[in-house]
Order: sequence, then structure tokens, then C-alpha cells
Amino acid sequence: MKNLSLEAKLNQFMDEIVRKNPHEPEFHQAVREVAESLFPYLEAHPIYQAERILERIAEPERVIMFRVAWVDDRGQIQINRGYRVQMNSALGPYKGGLRFHPSVNLGILKFLAFEQVFKNSLTTLPMGGAKGGSDFDPKGKSDREVMAFCQSFMNELYRHIGPMTDVPAGDIGVGGREIGYLFGQYKRLLAEFSGVLTGKGYGWGGSLIRPEATGYGNVYFVQEMLASRGESVQGKIAVVSGAGNVAQYTVEKLLELGAKCVTLSDSGGFIYDKDGIDQEKLEFVKWLKNEKRGRISEYAEKYGCEYHQGKKPWGVPCQIALPSATQNELDEQDAKTLVKNGCICVSEGANMPSTPGAIEVFRQARILFGPGKAANAGGVAVSGLEMAQNAMHLSWKREEVDYRLQQIMHNIHATCCQYGRKDDGHVDYVDGANIGGFVRVARAMIAQGAL
Ligand code: NDP
Repeated sequence: MKNLSLEAKLNQFMDEIVRKNPHEPEFHQAVREVAESLFPYLEAHPIYQAERILERIAEPERVIMFRVAWVDDRGQIQINRGYRVQMNSALGPYKGGLRFHPSVNLGILKFLAFEQVFKNSLTTLPMGGAKGGSDFDPKGKSDREVMAFCQSFMNELYRHIGPMTDVPAGDIGVGGREIGYLFGQYKRLLAEFSGVLTGKGYGWGGSLIRPEATGYGNVYFVQEMLASRGESVQGKIAVVSGAGNVAQYTVEKLLELGAKCVTLSDSGGFIYDKDGIDQEKLEFVKWLKNEKRGRISEYAEKYGCEYHQGKKPWGVPCQIALPSATQNELDEQDAKTLVKNGCICVSEGANMPSTPGAIEVFRQARILFGPGKAANAGGVAVSGLEMAQNAMHLSWKREEVDYRLQQIMHNIHATCCQYGRKDDGHVDYVDGANIGGFVRVARAMIAQGAL
């Protein structure tokens, strides 16, 4: 083993991951990306190899899978599958969102839970990593059907979570409405009003700035990256994908800082508004997506701009690109197009939106590339602040939460620079986030013994 090259060791490690976790390509992809950053670091720090930390981190502490049966509006019984992947609790109670989307399967939730461990560590708040969800599709369902599903989902999940055990939040398909139904059912089952979920409504345990936190946080991270090269957000053209929670508040903060956002997308296609999405148009998007639950094509109909069905926005010239929809939505060819068109900064609002080929293009071009586990950590950071407020039975002002969020994003950027700076001064944020996130977890795991 000692004489093997680093690459051979990495391949051996990955072969074992693939053997133990067959048919889970997203999980393999997420582990490989981290392992590629970590292997050189582990060579220089043999204690982590001796303790087999990476091997342990890549094995979930616990996986829960369960049936979710519920009755639709026609009186028919529907059956979905529910999951919770409790990945690592070295730093605190498990923490991570719930995703309701038909594409959800165990491999996708394992990749998300794995990423979450490093992300939560980067925030420096006391949170372990987890992820969960279901293949339930909220699209086209009535509020009553969504409630019936959420109640049935919680009827099983409640026994595995708790404010000191595991604190879920939202993700794709799980917003304020779903968190409300899930929280209501947990409260009914346990006769307990507690901080068991984050992303709660303001007035019943929610934190100000939580809905905004992921999008705002990503833009704060972009500001930090740009500032390191003497640049700012002001006056830049930005391309954003998605039209959900993360995308909406990304656009809001960019607007406030003087950038011009020209795209949004959903699974149907993207809109290209050359005049820029202003505050009034953004309010329409919020209503369209959060209340009417319609399609982004309706934006193009209303404002008379371009709509590209079935396409992604990466061909639109920009200086800043913020993928904020879903995993693997930006591939190698898209990355080449972005770089060719003069993009200088890509920051991931979504989890793992860039394929490995795309990341390689950004790294080779040496543009600023903020990986999701650093750039979108603002959401879970404010979830951590919501937990703190719940524990103290008080709520902080908007300015106070926003200030703390900015500080956390600033510190995450500093951690990335600390662990990702190369000999020539260039900062590789992928290495920085992976190593910086790893070190805290690894130290805690060693201190807590072989678990
Ligand atoms: P939402 O459900 O609010 O919005 C998701 C958006 O992405 C929608 O526009 C949706 O379009 C689009 N989308 C989802 N799946 C696909 C797909 N397979 N193909 C194309 N488009 C798709 O989710 P969020 O905004 O909360 O999450 C977006 C991303 O950000 C996810 O990767 C999530 O993991 C990540 N994230 C979210 C955090 C949060 O606090 N919410 C925190 C950190 C990361 P459509 O409506 O047509 O499906």
C-alpha cells in the first residue's frame, strides 16, 4: 500500500466506494471530488489515514427508509418512499434538508448528505450532516394532498428526529408550506413545540432571513471572491438558473448590489430578459413560483422576453454565473462556453450543479469557482442560527441575522483561502472547501474514538 502512487491509492479507495454503493453515480461523484482534494493532504497528515477518517465519513452512520402511504383527492391510496440519511454526528445533531422530487433516490440523498457534512463543518456551527426526502412530486398536487403526504411522512420520521438528535429543513420541493405541515404533525405526535425543523414561519419559531439565506449567502461569497481580485458585483451581468428559493434571493441580493440578472429557469426551459430582472419582475417570479406554482415561461409571456424551451442559460454572455437549480445542470461544454464568453466567476447556489468536466474547465481557466459546499452554506448557517434562537426562546432582528450570515460567509471564504492557496498564491476553492471542511470533522471524530 505504501508504495502505491497517490492516483493508484485514490482509484483503490474509489473502487471500494463503488463496490459498496452500487448504482449510486451521484454519490460516487461527490466522494471522488472530495477524495481528489484530500489524498495529497492525507499523505502529509498520516494520522487521518491511520484513523481511516475518510473511509468512515463516506459510510452513513444510519440510513432510514420507509413507506409513505397517503390518500389523494380522488380517494385513492398513493405510495411513496421516504428516506433520512444520517451521515455524520461528530460536530452536532444531524442537520440537512428534505427534498421532495420524483428523481429522489438513495444515491442522490447520500451524495447530498455527504456534501452536507463538509458544508456544515465550514460554517463552524455545531451541526452534523444529514439529508432526506421522498420521490413524492408536489407539482400539480392540491394543498390538501401535500398536507396528507407531509403528515404521513412525519408519522414515520418523527421517531428518528428531535431538536438534539436530527433537525431537518427544506430543499427542492420543500418550502414554507411543507415545513409547516411537517412541523404541525410532529407537534401533534409528540405534544411538544420545539425546534425540530428549521425554515419555520416567522412568528412560530422561524428565523428572519432564513428564506433569503442561501441566495444572499452565495452572493456574499461571490463578493468575497471578486474582492480578492479587486473586482465587485456592481455593474456585472449575471446568469442565474432555477427559479425557486435559492434563485429568487440570489437575484434579489444581486439587484441590491447593482448587478444585472438576465436569466432564470425551471425544468421547462429558461427566460432571457436582456433588460434585466428588476424588483417588480422579481416580485412577479416570487408570486408565480411560491403561490401560483406556475412555469417560468409565463414570465416571458408577461414581459415579452425570450424563452428557450428545454434549454439551459449557460450560452448567455455574462461575467457571473450562479447555477441554482439542481445537480449536474452545467456540463463541460457549458463551462467552455461560459469561459469563452468572458465569465470570470461561477458560484454554486445548488448542490453539485457542475459536472466534474465543467469544474476541470473552470480550474484550468483559473476563473473564480465557488463550490456549493462553501458558496451555498448560508442556508444551513441561518438554520443553525434558527436552532440557537429556538434554544434561547427568542428571535433576533433581521439586521443581526444578516450580519451573522455575512460574517459566516466571510469566514468560510477565509477557510477556503487558508486550505486552498497554492504555492503561486492562486486559491483553489474546491480544495480549500474540501480540506477545510474535513479537518474539523476529522479532529472531532478522532477525539470521540472509533465509532
Ligand atoms: P426549489 O424547489 O425552491 O427550486 C428548485 C428549482 O430548480 C426550480 O426552479 C426547479 O424547476 C429547478 N429544478 C429542480 N429540479 C430540476 C431538474 N431535475 N431539472 C431542471 N430544473 C430543476 O429548490 P431550492 O431553490 O431550495 O434548491 C435549489 C438547489 O439549491 C438544490 O440543488 C438544493 O439542494 C440547493 N440548496 C438549497 C438550499 C436551501 O436553503 N433551499 C440550501 C443549499 C443548497 P421546476 O419547478 O420546474 O422543477
